[in-house]
Amino acid sequence: MPLTPFHPVLPWLPYVRWPRAFSWWAVTLGAMVPDLEVVPMFLVSGDIYIARGLMHSLLGALTIDAAVTVVAVWLLVPRLIRWVDRRWPGTHILTFAGQDLRRDPRDLPTLYASAAFGALTHVLVDVLNHAYNPVLWPWQKGPLNLLPFSDQLWYDLFTIAIWSVFLVVMMRKFWRR
Ligand SMILES: [Zn+2]
Repeated sequence: MPLTPFHPVLPWLPYVRWPRAFSWWAVTLGAMVPDLEVVPMFLVSGDIYIARGLMHSLLGALTIDAAVTVVAVWLLVPRLIRWVDRRWPGTHILTFAGQDLRRDPRDLPTLYASAAFGALTHVLVDVLNHAYNPVLWPWQKGPLNLLPFSDQLWYDLFTIAIWSVFLVVMMRKFWRR
């Protein structure tokens, strides 16, 4: 079960290879945005195991997830950069894979493609980690239960351990402070 902050490490793999083809912020936020629906859906349904909906579908990744991500990058990232520069001036905290994240692309085609790509990786990874996934919504009837051990505790702990290592390795290799 990749916890929300683990998800960006997968789209970071092509990012570190071809950084100029992507927006780092859109890839990173796009890979986390689908989980925005989990808390409200849990509160409505009362069942954490079915708390995934439109934002965890392929259609949702290309539409609402990408749109929310692009707006978030436009509205929040400049503020975040100003705050980091005030808080930790003169550090390389905003450098990843040799790229200055202050100079990340802002054009809509790059932002949209990066956001949609990040969200798609999230949706597809979740298919292998949860029994209930409306990935083919609205064409899908019933849950897509691909792995018989999805949502079992041992499998969750096993995948959390693997994703933790993956995240630490990527941060150590590509993030310099
Ligand atoms: Zn998710």
